[in-house]
Amino acid sequence: MTLNEPGFCQLLEPFADFPELLRRVELVLNAIPPEVQQDFLEDPRFQTALHHFIPGSGTTVKLAVPGPAGQGSRCVALKPRLATSNERFALYVIAHEFAHAWLRNGGWGEILDSEEAADALAAHWGFEKPPRKFWPFPPWPTTERQET
Ligand SMILES: [Zn+2]
Repeated sequence: MTLNEPGFCQLLEPFADFPELLRRVELVLNAIPPEVQQDFLEDPRFQTALHHFIPGSGTTVKLAVPGPAGQGSRCVALKPRLATSNERFALYVIAHEFAHAWLRNGGWGEILDSEEAADALAAHWGFEKPPRKFWPFPPWPTTERQET
């Protein structure tokens, strides 16, 4: 990345209201391999978004269902709570979501399960899934609470 390049501004913009989340996303974006950064920056369908939950009305984020390689939108939607949850956990979740985007929700090498693939790739990038005790909720939220 040089100063002349647009950098990650566009990918970080959705998180402007959550500086701590923005910092964490930036940290992950800077840690991933250059070819992945390039792919995210050059693919106009790749987007980031704030995943806001409004009680009673579902989420405000509209996501196209990711299609096979090269199809559909690629959107990484991150919840504001990742600004306040355990740092290790938050970085892992962010990396895991970027891994899904890079893998186009598919497998990675011999790992065919997309969740395992995203975990493995996130770990490969340096963001290993933290032990359960670092998780703010078990294992993923089934019911949402209002973000404060
Ligand atoms: Zn996943």
